[in-house]
Amino acid sequence: MNPNDMSCKELVELVTDYLEGALSPADRQRFDLHIGKCDWCKLYVDQIRLTIQAAGKLTEDSVDPRAKNELLAVFRDWKNS
Ligand SMILES: [Zn+2]
Repeated sequence: MNPNDMSCKELVELVTDYLEGALSPADRQRFDLHIGKCDWCKLYVDQIRLTIQAAGKLTEDSVDPRAKNELLAVFRDWKNS
């Protein structure tokens, strides 16, 4: 695995910055590359995007912390299996 590849955990932490367009071009590229290869993260980003569309704006509340923790738990189990 390329050491420059973004991890799932990193992606989850950067998702709001990504959707706000606040990532640096390099990070944005790594982010796009990751969701191009990782179905879990693609789904996660799509879900948050829909939540934001429904809410009409992006706030910290857009990302349900419980959903985020559940997702991180899924990643942990998945990496360990
Ligand atoms: Zn991922």
